[in-house]
Amino acid sequence: MRSVAVFALASLVLAVGCRAPSSRSSPPDRPNVLLVTIDTLRADHVGCYGYTNASTPTIDALAKRGVRFETAVAHVPLTGPSHASILTGQIPLGHGFRNNSGFTLSPQVKTAAEDFRQAGYRTAGFVSGFPLDRRFGFERGFDTYDDHLPKGNDRRRTPYVERFADGTTDAALRWLQTPRGAASQPSPWFLWVHYYDPHAPYEPPADLAERYRQAPYDGEIAFVDRQLARLFQALDAGNETSRTIVAVTADHGESLGEHGEGTHGIFLYDATLRVPLVIAGPQISGGGVSRTVARSIDVLPTLADYAGFPRLNDVDGRSLRSALEGQEMSDAPAYAESLYADLELGWAPLYAWRTAGFKYIKAPRPELYDLEHDRSETANRVEELHARANDLAGKLEQTLLRAPAPAAPHPVDADVAERLRALGYVSGSPARRAAGTALRDPKDGIRFLPRLNRGMSAARTEPDVAIRELTAVLQEDPGLLMARRTRAVAYAAAGQHDRAVADLRVLDKEGQLTPEDAIVLGDNLRFAGRLEEAALILTRVQHENPTFAQPLISLAEVRIQQHRYDEATALCEQVLKVVPDHIEALRRLGDLAVLREDLGAAAARYERILAIDGGDVAALTKLGVVRVRSGHQDEAIQLFRQAIERDPRNGEALLYLAGALASAGHPADALPYFERAIEAGPPSTMALNGLGLTRLTLGDAAGAESAFRQSLRLDPNQPDVARALADARRGSTPDPGGVKMRK
Ligand SMILES: [Zn+2]
Repeated sequence: MRSVAVFALASLVLAVGCRAPSSRSSPPDRPNVLLVTIDTLRADHVGCYGYTNASTPTIDALAKRGVRFETAVAHVPLTGPSHASILTGQIPLGHGFRNNSGFTLSPQVKTAAEDFRQAGYRTAGFVSGFPLDRRFGFERGFDTYDDHLPKGNDRRRTPYVERFADGTTDAALRWLQTPRGAASQPSPWFLWVHYYDPHAPYEPPADLAERYRQAPYDGEIAFVDRQLARLFQALDAGNETSRTIVAVTADHGESLGEHGEGTHGIFLYDATLRVPLVIAGPQISGGGVSRTVARSIDVLPTLADYAGFPRLNDVDGRSLRSALEGQEMSDAPAYAESLYADLELGWAPLYAWRTAGFKYIKAPRPELYDLEHDRSETANRVEELHARANDLAGKLEQTLLRAPAPAAPHPVDADVAERLRALGYVSGSPARRAAGTALRDPKDGIRFLPRLNRGMSAARTEPDVAIRELTAVLQEDPGLLMARRTRAVAYAAAGQHDRAVADLRVLDKEGQLTPEDAIVLGDNLRFAGRLEEAALILTRVQHENPTFAQPLISLAEVRIQQHRYDEATALCEQVLKVVPDHIEALRRLGDLAVLREDLGAAAARYERILAIDGGDVAALTKLGVVRVRSGHQDEAIQLFRQAIERDPRNGEALLYLAGALASAGHPADALPYFERAIEAGPPSTMALNGLGLTRLTLGDAAGAESAFRQSLRLDPNQPDVARALADARRGSTPDPGGVKMRK
């Protein structure tokens, strides 16, 4: 399932995605550079880092032919900011990308891809998670940047948030295997491949899910390792291994319950900051283990060093080449931060300063850990080792002073917020608070997290559970607005729209209604049938946020419900001006064109969706319907088949395929699809009548009778069907044209 869903997309992207630059000169002896970042990978869950339950033979083998850094650390336990550090060589204070939501990579900050491109490299990036979408600025400097995420493979069916490792590998392999430039002197390449699978939720493919039933997180890691093997095999097959520097690392770890944190993002402990770093390639002798503490900001300077263009300016990191060549390097301290608790939950931000031996964490109740004797950071020594704590705190303060004040986060588009939320990031507005309020220490707030997280992940799929959890949180802390915000989403999913509206009105009263909340409010008013109220709030939020797509889409929904189709069309057109190729706008434009019988326009919209995401089942089905109506039965049948291949229980596609086969004169082929459509539910007269007619055509009068009877139970007011039933009972063959399949 996983590979099928992405393969077509990958080939599609690659067919247009990569052309070798023809006119770049570069020294032929420069190595290729492959940077692999595995999201959410704790160092101590990798085999070569001593984990016995691991299945990571590929990374372990890489460590054997290269060097493994025993201690490597990230600067932020969040995907976007941490990757920004890896790709720019700067700490967050330098690159300014401080949280997943609300920031983009400033054009003033130079990236690895720009460096490599300037040095004559072909550059390509293949990413697998929404936080690295090009809208955040990560695509800069890449000739090819493939951030195509398939629709709806997330457990909660939130579209476009993750691509699985096999799909990303397929795409990267196609790029690697594309002939490039002049064969006599091909340009070296810089390739970044990002895998997202170990990020929660942990859902490895079937065989690994079975093997790692007790530890699905490890199953996800094993799956990525397998895919990495395919990537390395391709390098071997192309004789590229001996001229390629390979670096494998992670953006952050995963807390897995340590310190009360389930995933990552809030705390600055090694559970989420210690990552693997393995580097191998020509000039690096194998089997080494370096004790030098490596930092994410050192990755770019190191790779640049091996590629022959030492990167000394505008980086906070340093080349680790000496360490890779067997010399221990002096200790370079590491800065770390997370503004997540501050920006998303209204608690205190955390900052840390780490040396090889100690870590100091700045918090309302500060912490100091002796890393040599207390790797899991359980004994806070801040009182006892006062002088050392002061020393590290002073260095941290100096660093914080030196930095420019953090730029105000940009407002988040509702679509962005939705996708980040699907990945477990809350992503509301930055919490505003009254001046002088003491901030909650995240250590104290963390006890709310399990319930808040359960509420967030269940909000759409199990709203009753979510409502229960979030109500409990709100009873303890009525000020935790995120709980109220999320409960509104759960109420909406449970169909309790008036309660959702009530919760959102509370946020509004407290001046905490974000644009995203306002859209949820508008949608709930619409579902509650309060269309003009809905239009009012959506128009307001649209005026306040003219670059947002979602208010326009939601407003278009209101207009469609009011049968004001021209206005709806104009709104969707406006979305495309704000966000070109916005899939949901294209979809509605297609549907609106079908309504006005403009089949050509409808087909063009659905075709555009399929060009972007070949696996979009709804678009495949709708395009099939358009093909039927334009008399292209064969094409339609093919489209319906594709839709069913991707979603075998899609009742709509099954029914259309059955109908198309029946009217093309293949009743025996149609029969099983009618049956599957009815099984997929919900029962419809259209499916039952089609089944009845098809059974009649095949001589099964008793079967036909039963189908017609069920259909009449659903809707007694079908004179054609009643007549057909009577005919069938009498044993005479009714005229199949007499019963309409269309409801
Ligand atoms: Zn991440």
